[in-house]
Amino acid sequence: MTAPRAARRVGVLALQGDVREHSAALTQVGAVPVPVRREQDLAGLDGIVVPGGESTTIGRLLTVFDLLEPLREALRGGLPAYGSCAGMILLADEVVDGTPGQPTLGGLDVSVRRNAFGRQVDSFEAELDLVGLPEPVHAVFIRAPWIERLGEGVQVLAREPGGHPVAIRQGALLATSFHPELTGDARVHELFVKGLH
Ligand code: GLN
Repeated sequence: MTAPRAARRVGVLALQGDVREHSAALTQVGAVPVPVRREQDLAGLDGIVVPGGESTTIGRLLTVFDLLEPLREALRGGLPAYGSCAGMILLADEVVDGTPGQPTLGGLDVSVRRNAFGRQVDSFEAELDLVGLPEPVHAVFIRAPWIERLGEGVQVLAREPGGHPVAIRQGALLATSFHPELTGDARVHELFVKGLH
């Protein structure tokens, strides 16, 4: 008989953004959400979620809280991460239309364009097919980014109706331009948590 798998401890970067919604989605899929505000909070995590919010603010707070370097190091060391919207921007190696000197954590070999959909449609919703999920996801986009350049090792999981990638995976990193944490559908979180070892 195999012992039941211990619940995964998944950090939620809790400096700004929709931390509560991500924590609820993680709980829904059987993981234990752990708020991360300090370097010591990173100890013993199986993965981390970088929430939606405002990437420039989260970037600034990462610096203020002395978390930028420790988190970069953890990601380089293989800590799995899932970023939604602002979180996708923070996990990208390159940001187009960022603010001057905007810090990112990096890890995803992509260029991401902030506020890519422009003012006319700065928020919208769409049903998207996502690789790995049998049924489409209801995707909520709020001043969302899209991917403009894809590195070789990056897998596209979903595209927006205009064709730009909006859900990607590279190794232990997963990112979506949209916010599954706002819809009560935890299947994207489930995909992430299932991949944690
Ligand atoms: N436009 C925001 C940014 O640049 C992201 C918006 C979001 O996370 N909903 O960070």
